Order: sequence, then structure tokens, then C-alpha cells
Amino acid sequence: MPTSHYDYAIVGAGAAGLNLVLTLAGDPYFEKKQILILEPDAKVANDRTWCYWEKGKGQYDEITTKIWPKAKFIYSKDEIDLEMSGYQYKMIQSANFYHHAKKVIETKGNVTWVNDKVNTIEESGSECTIVTETATYMAKFVFDSRISHEFHNNNDKYLRLLQHFKGWVIRTEKDCFDESAFTMMDFRLKWPQSTSFMYILPLSKREALLEFTFFSPELVKESDYEEYIKKYIEDILNLDDYSITSEEKGIIPMSNFPFHHANTERVTKIGTAGGWVKPSSGYSFKNAINYSKQIVSNLKNGDRPDHKLFKKRFRKYDALFIDVLWHNNELGEEIFSDMYRKNNANRIFSFLDEETTFFQEVKIMNSFRKWPFTKALLRSFTY
Ligand SMILES: Cc1cc2nc3c(=O)[nH]c(=O)nc-3n(C[C@H](O)[C@H](O)[C@H](O)COP(=O)(O)OP(=O)(O)OC[C@H]3O[C@@H](n4cnc5c(N)ncnc54)[C@H](O)[C@@H]3O)c2cc1C
Repeated sequence: MPTSHYDYAIVGAGAAGLNLVLTLAGDPYFEKKQILILEPDAKVANDRTWCYWEKGKGQYDEITTKIWPKAKFIYSKDEIDLEMSGYQYKMIQSANFYHHAKKVIETKGNVTWVNDKVNTIEESGSECTIVTETATYMAKFVFDSRISHEFHNNNDKYLRLLQHFKGWVIRTEKDCFDESAFTMMDFRLKWPQSTSFMYILPLSKREALLEFTFFSPELVKESDYEEYIKKYIEDILNLDDYSITSEEKGIIPMSNFPFHHANTERVTKIGTAGGWVKPSSGYSFKNAINYSKQIVSNLKNGDRPDHKLFKKRFRKYDALFIDVLWHNNELGEEIFSDMYRKNNANRIFSFLDEETTFFQEVKIMNSFRKWPFTKALLRSFTY
């Protein structure tokens, strides 16, 4: 029987909330714990495509739509075939992920899904009180995906770079995509003085998702992204016969805002709200997998849920990177081409996954031109 007292409450059934509930529900240690999910949305729409890199088999391979064994990086002077060293790039459609998670949850008698919107969470003593639009729940620990008002207020010293993009899935009449390789970044078409590029996921020889993407402080008009995608298709792919089958757009924060400062003994911010988006790349799905495992291990060990979630030195690298792109947004092509020319994908992906040694990180840092990062380092002392 569902109860209004729970061991764990998860607010928001998105990438983070569902990864966490799947990790909790998959561990026999939690069989007798009552878990509550509060989510206002039906979670059926295919509202985003998640990609991430991984070596070998992964836990979501059965719901993966596409796996690319190869990758390209293209800039104005050259095209680089990235040596993937065993990494593969995997794509999950969000609708498949939501469906999969719900199916697993249905089989678990200790997980309750309630369609409701959370208004407030208050911690007192050994329990938290969660007030929704229609009810009140108690939980020993809460994992909260709601982004704090402080982040949106934009009224502090932190930098809020945005990864913003619009994409079209296009279908062509003749074969024109290499479906074995995705394009991480193509800088041949750029918005002036900005870090902007095309990201391409070929789904077949005749179908691909093309996203015109910015890492920049300001958004542009929707028609601007579309103009650039059209221009890319016509001038770079040299295609005039194609149809648009679907669209995707998004805004992902790339920020040095200290999301984790909102965490307490019993309330842990998760996902974008918890700083799980890697500030320098905008990726977070793989963090959602890994951080969920760390939280589960912490709960089992009696540690605070956010114990060892973040690695300080990587946050420092991220902050420097954000600072450089904030102050010199026009340098994106040079910075990324330096990185992809001088390092193999193995080193880059493991660096972005925060799994490198300090020695490997020095090698990565040596691939960048020095002055923008030195200036960012000097500025960081004034924060
Ligand atoms: C279009 C798009 C494409 C992306 N592609 C990638 C990618 O390829 N790879 C990658 O790693 N990252 C990607 N990201 C970034 C990131 O992985 C996603 O944004 C991810 O969904 C973030 O997970 P989350 O759980 O924080 O947020 P969400 O997945 O957005 O989930 C938050 C949930 O909280 C619920 N919620 C909100 N308010 C309340 C409330 N008051 N009460 C209860 N529930 C509430 C929402 O309804 C939602 O279901 C993408 C983002 C977008 C927008």
C-alpha cells in the first residue's frame, strides 16, 4: 500500500530522477525501502535525444537507437577522423528511456509514481516535508530536479554561458551521409565572432539530425538557427532535395554557478539543478548514470548523499574554460581545434568524464594556447 511516509522522494522524472530511481530499484539493498516519484508531466513525448560516449556494453544498449563507432571534428582548415580507442557514441531517444523506466518501475512494489507538481520542500529533523499541488508527503531523503530561483535570478558573480541549439532531422532522396561517423563539431559555418558549429548525427545514409549550436552568453532568434541549418545543407552538403521530418531545440546551462551549495544532509539537488551538467561540454546523461551510482553507494554507506559527487580540480578546469569562452567567445574554433588536433579521443573523452590523471590533464592543457587561459586564471583570483 502506498504511504505518505517514504524513505526516498525523487522530485522530477527526467534524465537524473529516472537514472536515480532505476539505480535504487535495481539494488536489492533498497527492496524494503519506500520510494516516491513526483512528476507533473506524463513523460511520454520524445522531447530530446541524449547522446554520450561509452566503452563496450552499457546498461541502456537495449533501448539505444543508434551507436556510432567513428567520429569527425571539422574546422575551417581540416577534417579530423577521431581515433575512438574503443569508445562508441550512443544515442537514446527520451521517449524510449521514459517508457523503459516506467516498465521497470511497474514491476517494483516499493516505487510509487504520483503525477503532481512539487511546490515546496522543507527539512526538519530526520524528515522532509514535501508540499505538492494536491497533497503533502514526508520523506527521509529528497532528490530534487527543480532548478533554484537563484540560478534564474542571474544576480551574482557567476557566469552563465548557454549551450543553445535548434536541429532538424532531414531526409534526402539520395545517399549522402556516412552513417558510421557522427560529427562532434563542424566549424565551417559560424555565426560571426562566436563559438558556434554544426553537430551532425547521421541516422542512416539518407537521414540525419543537424543541429546548429552555440556555446555563448546570448540566445539568437529561432529563424537564425534555421537560416544557418539551411545554409549548411545547401552550401556545405550541396543538397537541395530534402525534407524536414522533425525538429529539436534546447538550452543547456554551461555555468560555474555552485549548484551543489543548495545540497543539505537530506535534500540533494540532482540533474541540471544539481550541477550534473558538465559545464564545459553541456553533457549530463552519463553523469546522471555515474552520479546515481555514487548516491546509491553513499546511502548504503550512511554517508551524505552528495558525498564525493564532484571533483574539485575538474570544476576548476570547467570554470576556466567557461571564463575563456565568456570573455573571448570568438576563440571557440581555435580552442576546440587545438584540443582535437593534439589529443586522441581516448584522452579527451576520459578527461570530460573526469577520469584522467593529473599528468594526462597537463597534456590536454598544454594543447591549448596559453594567453586566454592565463588571463582566465588571473581573473579567477578576483572571484
Ligand atoms: C534538447 C536537449 C538535448 C540534449 N541532449 C543531450 C545529450 O545528447 N547528451 C547529454 O548528456 N545531455 C543532453 N542534454 C542535457 C541534459 O542531459 C538534459 O537536459 C537532461 O534532461 C537533464 O536532466 P534533468 O533530470 O536535470 O532534467 P529533465 O530531464 O528536464 O527532468 C526534470 C524533470 O523535473 C520535472 N519537474 C520540474 N519541475 C517540477 C516540480 N515542481 N515538481 C515535480 N517535478 C518537476 C520536469 O517535468 C522534468 O520531468 C540535452 C538537453 C536538451 C534540452
